[in-house]
Amino acid sequence: ETLSNQIAAGEVIERPASVVKELIENAIDAGSDRIRVDFIDAGLRQITVQDNGTGIEADQLDLAFTRHATSKISNERDLFKVATLGFRGEALASIAAVSHVEILTSTDDISGTRALFSAGGKKSQEEAAARKGTQITVSDLFFNTPARLKYLKSPRTEAMKIVDIVNRIALGHPDISFTLSNQSKILLKTAGNNNLKQTVASIYGRPIAEKMVEIQKSDSDFEVTGLVSKPELTRSNRNFISILLNGRYIKNFQLNTAIMDGYGNKLAAKHYPVAVIDIKVDPLLVDVNVHPTKQEVRLSKEKELGRLIVQAISEIMLEQNE
Ligand code: ADP
Ligand code: MG
Repeated sequence: ETLSNQIAAGEVIERPASVVKELIENAIDAGSDRIRVDFIDAGLRQITVQDNGTGIEADQLDLAFTRHATSKISNERDLFKVATLGFRGEALASIAAVSHVEILTSTDDISGTRALFSAGGKKSQEEAAARKGTQITVSDLFFNTPARLKYLKSPRTEAMKIVDIVNRIALGHPDISFTLSNQSKILLKTAGNNNLKQTVASIYGRPIAEKMVEIQKSDSDFEVTGLVSKPELTRSNRNFISILLNGRYIKNFQLNTAIMDGYGNKLAAKHYPVAVIDIKVDPLLVDVNVHPTKQEVRLSKEKELGRLIVQAISEIMLEQNE
């Protein structure tokens, strides 16, 4: 069981940024509107994620840390219309298999539970005073899987991957206030006032936010909204393009291409726009159960969606010319 847990953990938790992503997704699923993330030593020494969501009942904690136990779907049919970011019930079990995890959680504002899990087993659990919500601290990530440590990039790169994933999730959730800090030094803070332009300003800076225009287009299946840069504002790589599908940050080559195509010949060669594209779609049209990290999804009607994105952007670019 320990070995199979470690193997499975490797699929979900590749690096410190995977821990950050999974813990933030849980916080979002728990209905939080304020999420704080802190990390030390590129997340290898410590990652803390604190939320003000529903919290976990004391008698549900063991289940939360059990592989393939999820409170989010209860039958096979639910799997075809996943509305939460999590659904595989793997994250907490996977993280606890390769680190020390301390959780402090409360479902009211009065009392709650503190528990320690390590290398896949529970070490302790006790009642503790806590505010409503959940705080999870992950220490010494990969301490028992040295091969994983070797596969990691430099601390600087790993830290950048943490910043990148928090940025993208924050862009997809302008209604949630995110704070990201590195050993208490604040790297990012979004207001959580549901203003996408302000969120973009917090992340990429005001000069970039001011050169972005709103897009909005829908058909019977998809609703596409977001902000895209005017053609004069470009970047030398694709990293400033974020696609969110029902609030989930996804990687999708076809949709990236559609965004570029929307600019027609207005972008110089090897120049890429800044874009935040938020797609809403009936969960029945999406299969998120393709890959453990859930960043790749299979989409019915992907071509139609591509065309809608091209249209949404090209129409705005025409208006920009007038
Ligand atoms: P999944 O998100 O796929 O259900 P996880 O392993 O990420 O699986 O989490 C297991 C369960 O623990 C969740 O289904 C949820 O019930 C609970 N949980 C985890 N994190 C939180 C949180 N921050 N707030 C409230 N409940 C949580
Ligand atoms: Mg989860």
